[in-house]
Formats: sequence, structure tokens, C-alpha cells
Amino acid sequence: MKKTVSFSKDSINIFFHILTGCNLTCRHCYINPEQHGKNTLSLSTIEAWLSVFAKKGAAANIIFLGGEPTLHPDLSLAIKKAKELGYGSITIDTNGYLFNDILSKIKPEEVDYFSFSLDGATRQTNDMIRGKGSYDRCIAGIRKAIARGFTTSLIYTVSRHNIHELDMMAPLLKNLKIDRFFIQVIGIRGKPAKSDQAQTNCKGLQVSRSEWLRIIPDVAERVAKHGIIVTYPKVFLGPEESFECAGLVAENYFIFPNGRVYRCPLCEDFPLHSMVLKDNRLVKTEKINESDLFELSIPEGCVMNKIIQPENLSYKNNGTSKHKPEYKIACCLLKEEIN
Ligand code: SF4
Ligand code: SF4
Repeated sequence: MKKTVSFSKDSINIFFHILTGCNLTCRHCYINPEQHGKNTLSLSTIEAWLSVFAKKGAAANIIFLGGEPTLHPDLSLAIKKAKELGYGSITIDTNGYLFNDILSKIKPEEVDYFSFSLDGATRQTNDMIRGKGSYDRCIAGIRKAIARGFTTSLIYTVSRHNIHELDMMAPLLKNLKIDRFFIQVIGIRGKPAKSDQAQTNCKGLQVSRSEWLRIIPDVAERVAKHGIIVTYPKVFLGPEESFECAGLVAENYFIFPNGRVYRCPLCEDFPLHSMVLKDNRLVKTEKINESDLFELSIPEGCVMNKIIQPENLSYKNNGTSKHKPEYKIACCLLKEEIN
């Protein structure tokens, strides 16, 4: 069954970057150390910040990220603390290297998902994007996690580099016994936004609307036929669909090691965070911040999309001096799910 996952104030998602360091240098990495910090949080700070967000409600889902979160020597203790605090679900996003023997330090019942990132169905494509050897390490990590009884998901970030291999993922996912498949869309932030980095510049790597609509829902349906739950971003709204900004109608918090807390991932390259953790307390930042942008209503839909990645907009000449957008861009957090 396919459905759009509506925003809800009852679902609280905490995306907790406990460090920004990583062993890989993926071409599309959105981590921006100048904006997000270069530090690794101490266990006591992680525990204090987990306590701050646990107060938001028992339904809160926590996702531990980095950088590579398994590089943090105390990740297992952070997971145990999150469990103790009663978080609704716990996910670890990993590149698959599984450092610090993490699988032996936690039990499958302590974690809901180990979420692995793979950006190609073949070694050649994945390693071109994520680095030599990363395909084999990721596949080995998935197999090891499953053999130990952990539930796994896989994230595939679609770009012009790898869209041609998306339809090869169904048999691979089935073979690996993955439970959930997340298709992501490449965002022009972090490394891809830095046009001076010729080697890693991903501008122009976004897939077109026609390609997205032709390929993504179809592949998602085919993967779901194997009993795998598939989630992918809506991206383009149909004429009958209304636009909503998650910053106004949902509760998502993106926490970085320098204490910044964003509500919108597309704002993360700028000092636009609406909150900051100071002395282990969550405080609002001064105007102007991302919250002021959420209030703006434009015919193109998402304001931040228009600012940072206008390439995926298209206009029609309506015979007047003003051009109308052909469609609206959805909030990047709006997802379709096939269950
Ligand atoms: S594994 Fe993640 S954090 Fe590390 S470089 Fe790749 S995208 Fe960035
Ligand atoms: S992506 Fe756009 S619509 Fe979604 S929270 Fe950010 S500004 Fe709002």
C-alpha cells in the first residue's frame, strides 16, 4: 500500500550528529564542519542532550549520525542511555565500517534499525561516489549485522551518477535480507554546494523531474513487492496536492556537535538554526533564523529549495510578464511510503 506520510506533531524525530569526523570522503557529503563543528561530543554531553530532547515526548525517535557515528567510542553507552530515557525508536546511520566493535557492545533489542548507506548496486558505481573499498565493507557490515540479529535498512542517495543502477537494487536488497529501503535525493548542500571544489562538485547532478517521476515510484513498487518497506521523498507536488512546511507542522530536530539545532535540513549550510544548546539547555536564537523563512508563502512551494537548488524548478510563460511555476516543490521531509 502506497501512502504519503503526513506531517504530525505526534511524531518527533531527533537527528543527532554526535561527531562530524568520518573515515570516508563521499562526493555528496552534506556535513559542513565550518557550520556544524569539528568536535566529538563527550558521553556526558550526549547524555545531557538526549535528556533535553527526551522531554519532548515518549514517541520521539532518535537517529544517531555523524560523520560516522560508530567512530565514537561511547556510541554503545549513548544507545543504552537513549533506551533508558524511553525513546520510541533508536536508529544508527552508518557507512557500514562498524568501528569500535559496535555490534558486540549492543543487543538487537536495544536498537530498532542499523541503517547502512550504499550509493550503487555495483562496486564500481558505489566506490566512485563513496570511495574505494566502501562497497565491500558496507555489504560485509550488513551481513554481519543481520547474522547477529539486528534489523537493517539501506539508504540510497539518487543522483545522475547512480540513478541507472537503482532498478538493480531489488535483487540485492532481497539477497541481503534488508527490511527497509530509503531512497534519498541528492541535495545541494555541504560538499555539492561548494562550486570551487571541482572534483567533488555535484551541481548538475540532480535528476530531472521527468526522470524522477518515471523511475523512482516504479522501482519503489518493485522493491516493495519483495516485502521490503520503501520510503522515498515526494519532491514534486501534483496540482491537487497542497504544500506544507515541516518547520511549521512537524517536529524534527537536527542537532550538531557545535550545539546548533536546526528544524530544516536545507538550512544547515547557513547560520540559520532556530535553536542552540547552551549549558545543556535548548534556547531559541535571535531573528532572523530559519523560522522566519518557514512563514513565507511562495508559488514554488519550499522557500529553501528556491534559494539553494532552483535548478529543479520550471516556469511556464502564462502570456503575461509574470512566469508561473509549473509545479510546487514539496518539503524535503515529505515522504511516500510503500508498505
Ligand atoms: S559516510 Fe556519511 S558522513 Fe562520511 S563522508 Fe560519507 S556521507 Fe559524509
Ligand atoms: S525543506 Fe522547505 S518546506 Fe521543508 S522545512 Fe525546510 S523550508 Fe520548510
